[in-house]
Amino acid sequence: MLDHLTCIYVKNVSPISGRLSFIGFIFYGQVKHGPYMWTSTRHQWLKKRFFYSFGTFAMHPLKALKRGHAYGGSRFLCSVSNTSSLQIELVPCLRDNYAYLLHDVDTGTVGVVDPSEANPVINALNRKNQNLTYILNTHHHYDHTGGNIELKEMYGAKVIGPHADRERIPGIDIALSDQEKWMFADHEVFVLETPGHTRGHVTYYFPGSGALFTGDTLFSLSCGKLFEGTPEQMLASLQRIMSLPDDTDIYCGHEYTLSNSKFALSVEPTNEALKAYATQVADLRTKNLPTVPTTLGREKICNPFLRTFSAEIRQTLSIPADASDAEALGVIRRAKDNW
Ligand SMILES: [Zn+2]
Repeated sequence: MLDHLTCIYVKNVSPISGRLSFIGFIFYGQVKHGPYMWTSTRHQWLKKRFFYSFGTFAMHPLKALKRGHAYGGSRFLCSVSNTSSLQIELVPCLRDNYAYLLHDVDTGTVGVVDPSEANPVINALNRKNQNLTYILNTHHHYDHTGGNIELKEMYGAKVIGPHADRERIPGIDIALSDQEKWMFADHEVFVLETPGHTRGHVTYYFPGSGALFTGDTLFSLSCGKLFEGTPEQMLASLQRIMSLPDDTDIYCGHEYTLSNSKFALSVEPTNEALKAYATQVADLRTKNLPTVPTTLGREKICNPFLRTFSAEIRQTLSIPADASDAEALGVIRRAKDNW
């Protein structure tokens, strides 16, 4: 089971990349507690330009990243590149949750995303004799925040979370709003509000590393249940995510991919890319290896919740051809809920 796994995904990325420079320019005026150099008109223009044109601008990021895989026993290590500074480690928690340890090797800064429980995180930190500086939460659910208080008390870590949910995030110190920029050591982090699963859900985007922490908004081959939002809200949230580059690595909150692949195949059985990915997922899970991270590009061609336009999905679920994407998403979500 996941408990027996030590999963390490090390991603080495130069902080000085074309992509980072570009994002830095676009968001210069939005640094949390930093100088604000744009007029509000300029600010709005930039916001719009980012979220509607970002994908085009960042089609050719200078992402100095290669990947390698070394399987040995239960260890999973992907690493590579030499100009590194951000390492991302999967930490299996509870039954099927993932927390993620972030380690900036230049400064020794360490953060954790969505620690559902403290012990696996403490064990991972102890193995490398690391301290914990930050705790980042995507949303308030207990299986994403359950370790907050214990970790905060043990390490003095600061808790970062969505401003809209500041009352529901245990121990929150820094509340961030949509499109705010925050710095993790020298790494820029952008906050995207992605409501739907919960009303205050955010995702954290590290453009220099091409990493997106999606919590329970986007999973591999699915999206989160609509506990506090509408299909329209979830669609808008997923569309914001889809505006990011296709090679963005998606670090989601749960290892649900195998089950999700079965549902996805049931609604789009002739999708060849999906069939191939489902086979790969089954193989990984047979070996008790994680399927995370996935990539945004793969999700676009395989994930039914990003494919509301698919004629086959619509036909399978009796969604009228003239139904809106939000209506289609609602039907797909209900079908998954009852599957
Ligand atoms: Zn949740």
